[in-house]
Parts: sequence; C-alpha cells; structure tokens
Amino acid sequence: MAYTYDPENIFAKILRGEIPNTTVLETDHCLAFRDIAPQTPEHVLVIPKGPYVSYDHFAAEASDAEIIDFTRTIGKITKALGVDLAEDGNGYRLISNAGVDGVQEVPHLHVHILAGRPIGRMVAAS
Ligand code: AMP
Repeated sequence: MAYTYDPENIFAKILRGEIPNTTVLETDHCLAFRDIAPQTPEHVLVIPKGPYVSYDHFAAEASDAEIIDFTRTIGKITKALGVDLAEDGNGYRLISNAGVDGVQEVPHLHVHILAGRPIGRMVAAS
C-alpha cells in the first residue's frame, strides 16, 4: 500500500500561499507557524514543505536533508520560544497526530510545539 496525499489540505494551501499564516520560521524544507486555535500560550506547528501525510510517511520517504532540517527547525523554535532546556527553560510538549486513532484533522505532517504553561498528563484517561 502506498501513502496518499491530498494536495487540497489546508496546510498545502498555506504552503502555496493561498491561505495566510503567522510564520515563525521558514527554512529550505520547513515552515513553522502559529496554530490558529492555540491550546497553550505558545502553540507552533512545524510542517515539512514536501507532501507527506504523517510522520511514518516522512520517515519512510523524506530525504536525509528534509529530516535533518525538520528536526533542527523544531529545536530552533524551542530555543526561540525560550523553553529549551539548554537555557533552563520550562520545557514543552511535541505532538504529531496521525490518522483516525491519532485524531489527525489536517492530513499534512505537522508537529505541534506546545509550551507556556504546565500541560498535564500525556494522555487523557479514556
Ligand atoms: P491535528 O488535529 O493534529 O491535525 O491538528 C491540526 C491543527 O491545525 C489544529 O490545532 C488547528 O487549530 C490547526 N489549524 C487548522 N487550520 C489552521 C490554519 N489555517 N492556520 C493555523 N493552524 C491551523
């Protein structure tokens, strides 16, 4: 089975400039922008510019350059937000939802960077 990517998803439209966003950082391979409905005082989304639906898709098919840039971009954002642990920041949470059980709303890989308050337990009791 191959991965399928819907080029009409909202983040693809953001990447094409069809929908505005509040950019935090843009690199050769990634865009980081503020979530439109922040769940914490700092809520930044990092997406690859390539057409990947999920983290597993990215891990399977992205180039080394894309993967390195994505990881480094997340690190740069935590530093820019002042929450990275090198500077004794208060920390953050990374989340990447995938598919039905992950309750993924937008089918373009994104990592949520959540910070700015204590976030609580990792997973709500079900
Ligand atoms: P997920 O459930 O992991 O797919 O999360 C999708 C996220 O995208 C949600 O946190 C939304 O608030 C966010 N979102 C949806 N549309 C936009 C948009 N136009 N700009 C910024 N964030 C958005």
